[in-house]
Amino acid sequence: MRVLDALNSPRPSVSFEFFPPKDQAAAERLAERVARLAHLNPDFVSVTYGAGGGGTDAERQLASLRATEQLAGTAPAARVAHLTLTGHSQARLVELVERFLESKVEGFMALRGDPPGGPKGDWQPEPGGLRFATELVELIASLTDVPIGVAAFPYAHPTARSKAHDAEVLAMKQAAGAQFAITQVCFDAEAYSALLDRAQAAGATLPIIPGVMPVTGASSVAKLEAFSGAPLPTALAEQIESAASPEAISQVGIEWSVGLVRDLLAAGAPGVHFYTLNTSLATEAICHRLGLGGGAGGGIGG
Ligand SMILES: Cc1cc2nc3c(=O)[nH]c(=O)nc-3n(C[C@H](O)[C@H](O)[C@H](O)COP(=O)(O)OP(=O)(O)OC[C@H]3O[C@@H](n4cnc5c(N)ncnc54)[C@H](O)[C@@H]3O)c2cc1C
Repeated sequence: MRVLDALNSPRPSVSFEFFPPKDQAAAERLAERVARLAHLNPDFVSVTYGAGGGGTDAERQLASLRATEQLAGTAPAARVAHLTLTGHSQARLVELVERFLESKVEGFMALRGDPPGGPKGDWQPEPGGLRFATELVELIASLTDVPIGVAAFPYAHPTARSKAHDAEVLAMKQAAGAQFAITQVCFDAEAYSALLDRAQAAGATLPIIPGVMPVTGASSVAKLEAFSGAPLPTALAEQIESAASPEAISQVGIEWSVGLVRDLLAAGAPGVHFYTLNTSLATEAICHRLGLGGGAGGGIGG
C-alpha cells in the first residue's frame, strides 16, 4: 500500500506520469529520462494506457505493459498502471488487470478512456464492455486490493452535465472503491481549491492529487490548451506569448509551475503528480527548487 502510505504521509507525495514510447528510439530516450529522474525518489510512477484513443487493443496493451515493465528495477518505487474501458470487453479487462498484477504493479488508475475523436467525442462502450469508470473501479476492486485511483477534473469533465454532477461522479468513484484521485492538468490553484470544495460538498473525501504539466517550448497557447485539455490562465498565456524562444517558454513553464505547486500544497494538496511528457528537465528543476521527492520508493523501478 505504498501509494496510500505516501498520500497519508505529512511529506508531499511526488509522482511522475509517462506514456508508452512509440518505438525503440523513444524507449531508449525514455529510459535515459527515467534514470535522470530516479534520484528524486518518487513515491510512484504511472504509465498511461492508449491515451487519445489510438491504436488497436493489442498495440495499446503491449505498449503500456512494456513501458510499465521497463520502469521495473532493483530500487523500487511503486508502479501504477492506467487502464481504460475503450475497446475492451469486460472479460478482456479482467485479463488485463491480471496481466498487470503479474508484472507487480502496486496500483491502478481506473479510467474510461478518451473516444477516438478526442476528449469531447462521442464515447461508445464496446459490446460486452463497461460504460463508466466507476464500473472499472468495481471490477478491479473485485480482483485485487491494490489501491485504485481515478480521474478528477478541476475544470469539470468536458462532457459533464454540470460541475456539481462532475463532483458527484467523483463521489460515486469513491463509493465504488477508489482510494485516490489525480486531476487533469491543472494550471491554477484556485481551480483545484474549487474542486476540493465541490468534492467535499458531494461527499468525496479521497485524497485528490493535482496534476501539473510544466509547459515546455510549446508553439502556441491554443495548441497547449488543446493538448492539456485545460484553460491557461491569462497571465500564463501572456508570458508564453511574449517569450522569445522555446528555452524562454520552458523557463516561464518552470517558474509558473514552482509557484503553482507551492500554492497547491498550501491549498491542501497531498502531493503533486507531474505529467512529464517523457521529458525530465523541467520536472527535475521544479522538484529541486521546491525540495520535493525523497519518497520511500528509493528510485524508479520495481
Ligand atoms: C489523471 C488522469 C489520467 C488519465 N489517463 C488516461 C489514460 O491513460 N488513457 C486514456 O485514454 N485516458 C486517460 N485519461 C483521460 C480520461 O480517460 C478521460 O478524461 C475520459 O474522457 C474520462 O474518464 P473518466 O475515467 O473520468 O470517465 P467517467 O468517470 O466514466 O466519466 C466520463 C463521462 O461520463 C460521465 N459519467 C460518469 N459516470 C456517470 C454516471 N454514473 N451517470 C451519468 N454520467 C456519468 C462523467 O460526468 C463524464 O462526463 C486520464 C485522465 C486523467 C485526469
